[in-house]
Amino acid sequence: MTTTTSDTAADARSLFADRFGTEPAGTWSAPGRANLIGEHTDYNDGFVLPFAIQHRTHVALGTRADAVVRVVSTFDGDAVEVPLADLDALFPDRRDEVVEWARYPLGVAWALLAASGRNAVDLTGVDLAFASDVPVGAGLSSSAAIEGATASALAEVWALDLDRVALAQAGRRAENEAVGAPTGIMDQMASMLGRADAAIFLDCRSLDADVVDLGFDGAGLELLVIDTGVSHSHATGGYGERRASCELGASIMGVPALRDVTVDDLPRAAGLMDDVTFRRVRHIVTENQRVLDTVRTLRERGPAAIGDLLVASHASMRDDFEISVPELDTAVDAALASGAVGARMTGGGFGGAAIALVARARVETVTAAVTAAFAASGFSAPTIFTVTPSAGAARD
Ligand code: ADP
Ligand code: MG
Repeated sequence: MTTTTSDTAADARSLFADRFGTEPAGTWSAPGRANLIGEHTDYNDGFVLPFAIQHRTHVALGTRADAVVRVVSTFDGDAVEVPLADLDALFPDRRDEVVEWARYPLGVAWALLAASGRNAVDLTGVDLAFASDVPVGAGLSSSAAIEGATASALAEVWALDLDRVALAQAGRRAENEAVGAPTGIMDQMASMLGRADAAIFLDCRSLDADVVDLGFDGAGLELLVIDTGVSHSHATGGYGERRASCELGASIMGVPALRDVTVDDLPRAAGLMDDVTFRRVRHIVTENQRVLDTVRTLRERGPAAIGDLLVASHASMRDDFEISVPELDTAVDAALASGAVGARMTGGGFGGAAIALVARARVETVTAAVTAAFAASGFSAPTIFTVTPSAGAARD
């Protein structure tokens, strides 16, 4: 356990003691995640290769004599309290009555009750206090971290008979229906299933998940996150448009999802659709293939050999899917020019972060080069830090 992690667990415990006046029964935690490759493939029923990172959200939990759930976070001084029996009436229709952040943990409690078939009146009430060191809105999924921490804590104290995939599904349901954010299941699966020095190879159609060793440590590699600080809040329209293009492309090809189109089908696809739709399709189809190629390359040749796949992924998002921005291109170009093994934008696009795979000895050089390139372009300084592939949700 890193110092940061135990500090944040201690923060959750002291918030609990402060606000609730007793000691918690224990703390649980779940990580954020980074996506190594496989962007916008999740909602096309395709493949992704995320890994859990060392930044975690911790929750301190104590049981109560009544059947009430109460949540508090270092993000927000006000506790939110709801009888367990009322969750079903609250979500999804009356979710606006709950302050947004609290919809994540309360939504998870609601989704877990539904998934387990347990009756709220049979369950013990809980107090939950959250503290986190997952950066919010940097594309590292602080949302999956708070969902995963909640799900693993509640599943244990309520003795729910649900496996990790079911807990990930409850997190996704909370995010989609209780919060109202139309996201896939990649983040929750990575946060629940993560392993040290490994990625999760996820088939977003079947939800089959394989652990794939990354071997960054043994190869002397570090993964840098370059957070451009460019907000992607204006991205909603762009994200929806890309989803619509993918659906149009799949229907023209006569398949349920672009997952069912292969690289060999692309010449035929080109003749059937307009140029923009074709390029959107080509990104998804080639990106799915790149995930498969990355998994094979990691297994056969190790992590130093995946650089070209990362670079090709970035080019595809920049030129075909058109979701990059100048700051992301600058980050990738400067990282590669200063010796990164590979680099690409990560996340939904239109801002957010890039990742760069870098030999440990070159981390400082690459960091300095990217920072200098941002300054030379007149961009605000990026935030650059390393992430370590780490274990998934667990009791601390
Ligand atoms: P991200 O890319 O970080 O997942 P999201 O917008 O999906 O960004 O989720 C961020 C939101 O999740 C926050 O605005 C907040 O509502 C909620 N959240 C995440 N972590 C916490 C926390 N520790 N305490 C309270 N709310 C949190
Ligand atoms: Mg999120």
